[in-house]
Amino acid sequence: MSYYYPARADIDLAAFAHNLNVVRQSLDGQKIMAIVKADAYGHGRVECARTAIAHGADYLGVAQLGEAIELRKELGAGPRILAWIYAPGAPLAEAIRDGVDISVGAWWALDEVEKAAAQVGAPARVHLKVDTGMARGGFPLAEIPDAAQRLQKLERGGDVVVVGLWSHLARADEPGGTFTDVQVERFEEARVAAAKAGLDIELHHLAATAGALWHPKARYDMVRPGIALYGLSPNPAWATARQLGLTAVMTLSGDVIVDRMVPSGTGISYGHTFITDKPMRVGVVPLGYEDGIDRKASNTAPLVINGQPACIVGRVCMDQFVTSLPDGAKPGDTAYLFGDEAAGLPTADDWAEAMGTIGYEVVTRLGARVPRVYHE
Ligand SMILES: *Cc1c(COP(=O)(O)O)cnc(C)c1O
Repeated sequence: MSYYYPARADIDLAAFAHNLNVVRQSLDGQKIMAIVKADAYGHGRVECARTAIAHGADYLGVAQLGEAIELRKELGAGPRILAWIYAPGAPLAEAIRDGVDISVGAWWALDEVEKAAAQVGAPARVHLKVDTGMARGGFPLAEIPDAAQRLQKLERGGDVVVVGLWSHLARADEPGGTFTDVQVERFEEARVAAAKAGLDIELHHLAATAGALWHPKARYDMVRPGIALYGLSPNPAWATARQLGLTAVMTLSGDVIVDRMVPSGTGISYGHTFITDKPMRVGVVPLGYEDGIDRKASNTAPLVINGQPACIVGRVCMDQFVTSLPDGAKPGDTAYLFGDEAAGLPTADDWAEAMGTIGYEVVTRLGARVPRVYHE
């Protein structure tokens, strides 16, 4: 952090390591791909990736191919990295040269990987993706035999190494659901088809956090946790982060910059969506929707200031919001937005509930200009 900003996201890397261990202990020896896409869910890609590798993660996963190429530059040779989102014309040759594992889930992607590998003169490390029920990425199950056959030929020719077969679960976070079983069955079919085509695949992987924790059958050779590593639950209605033994990695806070008493009947912030019904102490915290504080947090999201509860009042603005202010609070005091429950703070999941979204979005959308302050 080299610029001045009156707010910050403290990032507790020891908590990240702890969460990785919590996930590991829930498994039966499967490998772990730590998901660090979207700048590690807003926490900082390099720092979280380094921590994951230092604490025994076997793989790193990012969505965007560009992120994988950046991450390779940041980390150097060594850690395995998988990327799964790219478009026709992507710099696949660069990814292959960098030793980045590439997901292949469409015929055009297979064609481009083949071409890029020939250009580089080294095999592409490929994870064959099958759609088992998201209708998002991946070959339809019916096309897996053909895709596997084609890959097997390319493998024999030295253009690819098929490292993985993989898919993604749509409803693993729903208690009592049965669709995960359907997806596991389809994945099984894909596994058999790939083996029949002569592929000898080292890593079958299907489960993100919810699958890894709550659907043992979906664990296969490797799991791909993201949200749990950041100390949040994939579904707090099933089990809260605390019940899962997870510790929040991010604590978001800003400095109080205004304190004042306003009389009864005072309209607060744009549109006067809050009007005081008695004299009230209010303060201003310099975080707004530019920083990822959603306008849906207006009049609803909880804070803690000097150990006391407070609440956003009126509409969230671009760079600031107004809050109720506990007695004794003054400019320069720290207003905590969210962090770890055990520290007495509201959680990102509390904010998600207030804003009608999920914890994933609360941390991931934190604005780039908010300094991340790392603690080992
Ligand atoms: C984001 C993502 C994950 C991690 O999901 P969590 O629910 O955060 O654990 C795993 N796999 C894929 C393909 C993803 O897109």
